[in-house]
Amino acid sequence: MTNNEKKIWMDGFLVDWNKATIHILTHALHYATAVFEGIRCYKTVNGLAVFRLSDHIQRLINSGKIYFMDIKYSKEQLEKAVIDTINANKVGEESYIRPIAYYGYGKMGVNPLPNKVSVAIATWIWDEHLKKEKQYEEKGIRLMVSAWMRIDGRTMPFLAKATANYANSALARVEALKAGFDEAIMLNTNGKVVEASAENIFIVRDSLLITPPTSSGALNGITRDTVLAIAKENKIRYEIRDISRDELYISDEIFLTGTAAGIKPVAEIDNRSIADGKEGWITRRLKERFELVVYDRDDELSKKWLTYVE
Ligand code: PMP
Repeated sequence: MTNNEKKIWMDGFLVDWNKATIHILTHALHYATAVFEGIRCYKTVNGLAVFRLSDHIQRLINSGKIYFMDIKYSKEQLEKAVIDTINANKVGEESYIRPIAYYGYGKMGVNPLPNKVSVAIATWIWDEHLKKEKQYEEKGIRLMVSAWMRIDGRTMPFLAKATANYANSALARVEALKAGFDEAIMLNTNGKVVEASAENIFIVRDSLLITPPTSSGALNGITRDTVLAIAKENKIRYEIRDISRDELYISDEIFLTGTAAGIKPVAEIDNRSIADGKEGWITRRLKERFELVVYDRDDELSKKWLTYVE
């Protein structure tokens, strides 16, 4: 299917991809007053299914609440709209789904409240930048700690997946790419490790899995939560606690998690090799289990978390 034949859901209507446009004075474009989600639809052994749809839509609603958004659709309507969008596009493949709620065109000025809140849902097949290189599947990616600090809870609400937060992420990502790395790790204003520009981070030390708490500034990632559930199911010990920058360098394993990126092993941070630079056994085990869950081969968790499209 070419983009020309594709549809984007906009406030209840399936609009042609090329006609899915908005006014240049849309409030969200000028003042970053939008919240969004990133969801994945997997081609499972039993057909196409969306992973943790309910949790993603709940996070979207929560993000909207933080920004006083009056989203006109119920949770059920939004979930159905995601499925309708996938069906309308006859995707047939694993795809990425992007719902966004935004303050629209109306009254300019910092206050968004006079403007209508609109919702749009697009879907596409996405070769995310951390995914596309085959070598990373075996070798792991190279990271640098960014000079940009992660947004602080006193300046921005980090539990909202808001477009505004991604200006901070984009600066860090570009800094890393221009310096020849694959991704950035961000510290908070206390100097503790938070997350990557668009992924959560896990380290392993002495067979203990560790990830920073969401109170550090990390997004309450749905892949992060999935990994913690899989660790629990597989009796892998884990702790949620702050991580210092130097602890990264002496970890046995490090990996990133996210809807777009999946579970990505890390080979190097700041030019220091993580152990032997290869994917560690806990990362591999979690990745294998994760794939069983998302492709509907895990009795418990797949049933709980997959919503079939057809
Ligand atoms: N942190 C940030 C800043 C992100 O943008 C994302 C991607 N949504 C994540 C973490 C991972 O979250 P999830 O697993 O829900 O995709």
